[in-house]
Amino acid sequence: MQHHFIGGEWVAGSSGETLPVIDPSTGEVIDQLARGSAADIDRAVAAARAALKGPWGRMTATERGRILMKMSALILARHEELSQLEARDTGKPLSQARNDITVAARYCEYYGGAADKLHGEQIPYLEDFHVVVLREPYGVTAHILPWNYPAQMFGRSVVPALAMGNAAVLKPSEDACLLPLAFCNIAKEAGLPDGALNVVTGLGEEAGAALTAHHDIDFVTFTGSPEVGTLVQKAAAERTLKCVLELGGKSPQIVFEDADLDRAATFVLKAITQNGGQTCSAGSRLLVQRSIYDTFVKRVVERFAQSSVGTPAMDQDCGPLINAAQRQRVQGFIDQARASGIPVLAQGRVADGVPGGGFYVAPTMFGPVPRDHRLACDEVFGPVLAVIPFDDEADAIALANATDFGLLAGIWTRDGGRQIRVAKRMHCGQVYINCYGAGGGVELPFGGVKKSGHGREKGFMALEEFCVVKTVVQYHGK
Ligand code: NAD
Repeated sequence: MQHHFIGGEWVAGSSGETLPVIDPSTGEVIDQLARGSAADIDRAVAAARAALKGPWGRMTATERGRILMKMSALILARHEELSQLEARDTGKPLSQARNDITVAARYCEYYGGAADKLHGEQIPYLEDFHVVVLREPYGVTAHILPWNYPAQMFGRSVVPALAMGNAAVLKPSEDACLLPLAFCNIAKEAGLPDGALNVVTGLGEEAGAALTAHHDIDFVTFTGSPEVGTLVQKAAAERTLKCVLELGGKSPQIVFEDADLDRAATFVLKAITQNGGQTCSAGSRLLVQRSIYDTFVKRVVERFAQSSVGTPAMDQDCGPLINAAQRQRVQGFIDQARASGIPVLAQGRVADGVPGGGFYVAPTMFGPVPRDHRLACDEVFGPVLAVIPFDDEADAIALANATDFGLLAGIWTRDGGRQIRVAKRMHCGQVYINCYGAGGGVELPFGGVKKSGHGREKGFMALEEFCVVKTVVQYHGK
């Protein structure tokens, strides 16, 4: 049974109610979570507020950084145990879970090292004045996370907030709580003062809504669907709170006729099968220049047809999807595309011997997909690739920007001028040229435009999001 982590202690939920933890690879219940209530959120926010008035609030940036660096070392020391837990909770292939734990440790290392590097400045002003700009923590930061990368999301959302001296209250997804909870033990062992990190598990519409509506939080950061992101933004607006939103995507991979086609084809497959396509930055639209459409699509088809789905231990391209509802949603997209008469270009396979109760869906590639079809515009959040031909550079740019989302774009061409021309015209937060990094690097600022959200995570910029700038103007006399 998993409890909440509040004020440095494991505490039972006030309602006594629980939620099942389901292993996506078997459909079996493997644990129980506390079903958090508004009362639990109240307690967690109070613990965070108290931490800001206690040792945590007085700690120097260097000391905070050392604690985060220690967390990094402890995560690496337990790498395999945490990887197994992450794979079990989310169903992802073991090698992908191992990578996620490595990345979570890297976030702690990066932000631990950066904690005392972001500081204020002095501004030359009038002769008799001294002006300094301070960077201060917001206070109590609320974090709401999705289920696809719980370990990495903890690193990219909570860790920079702590680095800047905020006290965090986290509501992880009800479908993936085990890693954030395991990280609480690691934080405690690393010496994080009580109340600096609090985790309340539970449902979005209960614990999540109670957290975003709480009168005593100072900042909200949300990663998840655009629909819930809108609700969170409205709740934050009620109290004029700063809100960072990392939402979905429908990111294009644009392949021009002069590209290195073999390299592109390999990346295209990985960008849609990584984490079973349940990646906000999945390359889910493949835009191919008409002159090479047949040649290039054939190369992707060959790779796609070889892809397979299995349990975490089988370590295939994909694991199962996170739950029955997500499988039904993804299958719905596949069924609808077939019913619309869109050709299936290739399909991977579900490995023999997977447990019958798991939530498996074979990777599927459709094309050519009509530009206005739902499959060309909406986020599937599963291993489904929509292939669309384009005529020339102008057409490619218009098509790439033609969805409501704007998270990533991949550009494949050997023409240097075109690389930067097209990159500049992409309306999104990250552009990859002759490479593609779904998830990207810890150091690289990440976030979206349009329905993909606003604000930036990752890199040094995330630290700037988590602090308030205060200008102090002092008249010191003649
Ligand atoms: P979701 O929006 O259903 O849930 C996300 C979180 O919000 C969960 O913790 C959930 O409990 C909580 N929640 C639900 N209703 C709430 C409410 N009314 N108030 C407050 N919290 C509430 O998303 P999901 O299904 O977990 O994740 C999938 C979505 O997340 C996809 O759209 C995906 O693209 C997006 N995503 C985006 C990024 C990014 O960085 N841009 C990263 C990962 C996932």
